[in-house]
Amino acid sequence: MRILITGGAGFIGSHLCDRYLADGHDVIAMDNLSTGSVANIAHLSGHPRFHFIKHDVTHYIYVAGDLDMVLHLASLPSPVDYLNFPIQTLKVGALGTHNTLGLAFAKGARFLLASTSEVYGDPQVHPQPETYWGNVNPVGPRGVYDESKRFAEALTMAYHRYHHVDTRIVRIFNTYGPRMRSDDGRVVPNFICQALRADPLTVYDDGLRTRSFCYVSDLVEGIVRLMAADVHDPINLGNPTEFTVLEFAEKVIAVTGSRSAITFLHPTDERTRDDPKVRCPDISRAKTLLGWEPQVSVAEGLKRTAEFFRTRQGAG
Ligand code: UDP
Repeated sequence: MRILITGGAGFIGSHLCDRYLADGHDVIAMDNLSTGSVANIAHLSGHPRFHFIKHDVTHYIYVAGDLDMVLHLASLPSPVDYLNFPIQTLKVGALGTHNTLGLAFAKGARFLLASTSEVYGDPQVHPQPETYWGNVNPVGPRGVYDESKRFAEALTMAYHRYHHVDTRIVRIFNTYGPRMRSDDGRVVPNFICQALRADPLTVYDDGLRTRSFCYVSDLVEGIVRLMAADVHDPINLGNPTEFTVLEFAEKVIAVTGSRSAITFLHPTDERTRDDPKVRCPDISRAKTLLGWEPQVSVAEGLKRTAEFFRTRQGAG
């Protein structure tokens, strides 16, 4: 197959490039390198079945030749990034999804939208099944990301129903692993890099919000299975092992063997406004339809991720 992956130089996108190349396919990674990095795909340069196109998907996309699959991963998924670039976030979710769907339609390609657990907003149903419609504040600071993905889901279903494009929607819950940016502001790189430097881990507010963390290889396996299955409704992919942020900080300290303390910060900017109080995926649908569930424990995943930050990028 010939596969286009937007956001292909990003954290998850680059792991998908690796996987599809290893499976013997031709892969084109498209990225504007705003939050993605050539370092994530440097090892693929010169690979005979890999191509990179530097392009911003909010503009018309031209790709010569046939395509069998388009996976639309391009996005600014870190809260710090989408708070800093709110309009670009809305554009990549709306215009970028429109352009990539149009491309998939023109090429007769199967399409995947990388959506998010943020479509559930600050959820009033816990854990979150795909049937839950969510609790999103459209005009809050996180609305730019949440609503762009909700619009992207609606657009994907419209192309499926009206144009019969063969679409998939994955709702990705917090995912972590090597190739995350050390400075993207999310809790996993923040805590690991702080632990490696023996700096205090910055727990926001009381640390009682919950999240669950999926290792990237598990997510990639789920996406590959979803692409191969005949499922058009959204599918949650994530690890249902739930932690409070404070418990997670303790876990990171234990796994890295760090001397770090924990400090409680109360951000006065918009970082924690509308920050979901709980989040945990109900993965029954993925288990039944894809035979999928996470295999990598949080301890193992954190060890591998810490190793990446220690060796590849330094703890800075
Ligand atoms: N968080 C924290 N300290 C940090 C970074 C994040 O306590 O240094 C909290 C944040 O407020 C949220 C959770 O950790 O409740 C997960 O945040 P992240 O930015 O990783 O992503 P989110 O799940 O909110 O999209």
